[in-house]
Amino acid sequence: MRSRSANRSGIVMRRRVTPAGDIIVTLLTPQGKIKAIARGGVRGSQASRLNLFHHVGVQLYQTPQADLATVQQSVLEGALPRLSEPERHPYAHLLSELADALFQEGEFSEQAFELYAGALRGVSHHPDPEWVTLVMSYKLLSLAGFAPRSRQCARCAAPDPAHPDPLGGQLLCGACSSQPPHPAERLEFLREVPRRSVRALMDQPLPAEQRPGVWRSLERFVTVQIGGVQSWRSLASSLGGEVVSA
Ligand SMILES: [Zn+2]
Repeated sequence: MRSRSANRSGIVMRRRVTPAGDIIVTLLTPQGKIKAIARGGVRGSQASRLNLFHHVGVQLYQTPQADLATVQQSVLEGALPRLSEPERHPYAHLLSELADALFQEGEFSEQAFELYAGALRGVSHHPDPEWVTLVMSYKLLSLAGFAPRSRQCARCAAPDPAHPDPLGGQLLCGACSSQPPHPAERLEFLREVPRRSVRALMDQPLPAEQRPGVWRSLERFVTVQIGGVQSWRSLASSLGGEVVSA
C-alpha cells in the first residue's frame, strides 16, 4: 500500500471539531461516504467551507498509516443558506443523521447521494419542510433496504393491516393491535410510500393533525431497524409531538 491523493465532491453530513482544533467531517459523495480530517482546520480558511450541509470539493490525501484521509484543500461548490433557518435546520440535521446511519463507508451509491442532496434542497426551498422530511426519510430507508412491511401484519402476517405498531413502527392487523386503525389518508401514505415517486408523494401532503402518527411510526421503525441513532430519535419525537410510551 502506498500514499495516494484523490479529489472528491460531496456534502458535509457530519462535522466535529476536536480539542486540538482539527475538523473531522463525514461527506456523502456519489462514490460513497468518506470520513476525513482537516488538521488545524478550525484556525484556517477551511473552517468556513467545511460547514454542515455545504457541498464541497476536497483534495484528500491518504497514507497507509492513518485511518482518516487528510483534507488538503477544499472549495465551496454550493450552499443552501436557508438550512440555517430555525424552522428548517432540525429537519436537515435529522435527514443527515439518518443518511449517515444508513450508508456505510466504501459503499458506492450515486442514488444515495442524489436522494440525500435532493432531500436537503427540498428542506431548503419547499414551503413545507416537515413533509419533505417525512417523505425523504422513508425514501432513504427504502433505498438502504429498510422498507417497512405494509401488505401484511408485522406480527401475524394477516393481509391488509391498518393499525399502528407501537413497538416496531410497521402495521398490525386489528387482532394484534390494541390501538384504533390509522385514518385512511395516513394508512394510504404508510402503505404506498415505498412504491410511489417522490413527486407523487409531495403532491399529496397529509394534514398536520395526521403527521404525529407518521413521526411515531418512523421513529419506532428507525430505532428498531437501525438503532444507535439517539439524537435522531429524540429529535423525531419532539417534532412528532407527544411520544407514545410503550
Ligand atoms: Zn396480526
